[in-house]
Amino acid sequence: MINVVNDSNSLQGAAALSSSQRTVESVDQQTGQQTDLNNVQQQDGPGLDFIRAIISEDLASQKHTQIVTRFPPEPNGYLHLGHVKSICLNFGVAEEFQGLCNLRLDDTNPTAEKQDYVDNILQDVRWLGFQWNGEVRYASAYFQQLYDWAIQLIQQGDAYVDLQSPEQIRLNRGNFKEPGVDSPQRNQTPAENLVLFEHMQSGQLQAGTAVLRAKIDMASPNIHLRDPVLYRIMNVPHHQTGEHWKIYPMYDYAHPLSDAIEGITHSLCTLEFEDHRAFYDWVIDKVKPVGTPRQIEFSRLNVDYTLTSKRKLKKLVDQGLVSGWDDPRMPTIAGMRRRGFTPEGLRDFCQRVGVSKSDGVVDVGLLEFCIRQSLENSAPRGMAVLRPLKVTLTNLPEAMTLHHARHPNIDLGERDIPLTQEIYIDRQDFEEVPPKGFKRLIPGGEVRLRHAYVMRCDEVLKNDSGDIVELKCSVDLDTLGKNPEGRKVKGVIHWVSAEKGIPAEVRIYERLFSTMNPEAEPETASGDSETEAWLANLNPDSLQILSAVVEPALAAAVAGDRFQFEREGYFIADAVDHQSERPVFNRILDLRDSFKPG
Ligand code: ATP
Ligand code: MG
Repeated sequence: MINVVNDSNSLQGAAALSSSQRTVESVDQQTGQQTDLNNVQQQDGPGLDFIRAIISEDLASQKHTQIVTRFPPEPNGYLHLGHVKSICLNFGVAEEFQGLCNLRLDDTNPTAEKQDYVDNILQDVRWLGFQWNGEVRYASAYFQQLYDWAIQLIQQGDAYVDLQSPEQIRLNRGNFKEPGVDSPQRNQTPAENLVLFEHMQSGQLQAGTAVLRAKIDMASPNIHLRDPVLYRIMNVPHHQTGEHWKIYPMYDYAHPLSDAIEGITHSLCTLEFEDHRAFYDWVIDKVKPVGTPRQIEFSRLNVDYTLTSKRKLKKLVDQGLVSGWDDPRMPTIAGMRRRGFTPEGLRDFCQRVGVSKSDGVVDVGLLEFCIRQSLENSAPRGMAVLRPLKVTLTNLPEAMTLHHARHPNIDLGERDIPLTQEIYIDRQDFEEVPPKGFKRLIPGGEVRLRHAYVMRCDEVLKNDSGDIVELKCSVDLDTLGKNPEGRKVKGVIHWVSAEKGIPAEVRIYERLFSTMNPEAEPETASGDSETEAWLANLNPDSLQILSAVVEPALAAAVAGDRFQFEREGYFIADAVDHQSERPVFNRILDLRDSFKPG
């Protein structure tokens, strides 16, 4: 890990660092070069990250005249924040260098895959604002070609059918200290291997009794080169190819060849594939397809308080710990969309994080900062009282309608705000015994009603148990749009007409996990990895549901509309549950920026 003391006053640089322990992701470990985070999209000069530098060079030297990248998700779950980085990188560089980016479903393991996942992946990529080149591709569409190439490898003496059990294969692979042990089938003739391979595909051999392996080197210091498996038998139908195939290619075999078939020039993947690169190159070298793709690894995106593992996210869904893949607390694209995060904000976040080979953890505050930035100038404002306390304005002569801009940017138009004798204010804006520095309403004190009059609290009404149920207040009728005579009123509070306001459900979301590293085993963990001890890191208070009252202009929202509720935060009309007669708003984020850029 590289620690960078950021002394520039670059907003982005400061934003990416939450403390000196954090890593600015755009420090290339190999060159030691720090990318100017302002310029990660730039195509030349010092701002170039190492991937863009390679691409620039390949175009300059005419190694390629056009680059082709791909985003290759496996449809075994919904896409998450980590995938957003990969999408922005693959589609981003293609766009910047006038190249192409394919969307390929890497569907080589039918047991875990589903059409629903496929559909959502397409929707998520489009929502982020990217369009893939041509049709959606499927690794499964290449199964016949991959099979033919497997036969070629057998004929060349580069692959053999191994009849050892999976357990034997594992034991005979050796380890970092010990070389592997050759399979008894390793020196079978190509003719024998062809017959056995045919039996694998025809169903004559059962799952677990045979695999096709590359014949490389059982003593290689790189375990991935110790005769890796190319094909295994799986008697399950496939969501794209139906019942046809009994054998399925392994990811490490299918991936380089799918890249070659599609003419991919730069195959960008995460660092855990670094040790697989030798096999990637072996496959291309032995099969000799037309294309020669190059694999380049970059660091995964890790964000604190955020889980980026499909397997673990699936666990939350399967155990009912969240309402689904699109629960607004989930770091899935579907969840973030429903929560109200914007595609612009997510893309901006990825750009600021940059690309490097050094693993680090990004402050979730940077993500929240980017989302707020994207909302600040576009989300119309409105008033919503989240914890209503009734107030009677005893001297308001009659109901009236105020007109106000929806936003400081007057292009966003105006709204009508009804003011009636009965209104609601937020319970938290009134204190009988105010703490020091309290600037809102107190008995006998004055406060301004946002966009309306200055109001004085004359009387506090309580029920039999002593709870405050209502305030009687009077307004200074000479204070509409001007300051009161001879005194200063500091506090401004929001309010909603009780008569004209609309009851609404407001869902307040907090972080799903209360620990910075959600995957870390809590100290009390039993140490048994089967128990999924990380689940204890869930924040029990991540969802709070409030019965609010919103101004009529907000109730007119349609699902997906985003607002700033004055003094409360950014909110979105929920995509699933919102109806104009029964509004439901999700809190996107509060207004507080924990993040203090430079
Ligand atoms: P998970 O570990 O959550 O299952 P995965 O890597 O297995 O993720 P894939 O569907 O295989 O999921 O990922 C598609 C692409 O997204 C791959 O190229 C992968 O490297 C990339 N990717 C996945 N997670 C991240 C991440 N956290 N940061 C950057 N890229 C990622
Ligand atoms: Mg994967």
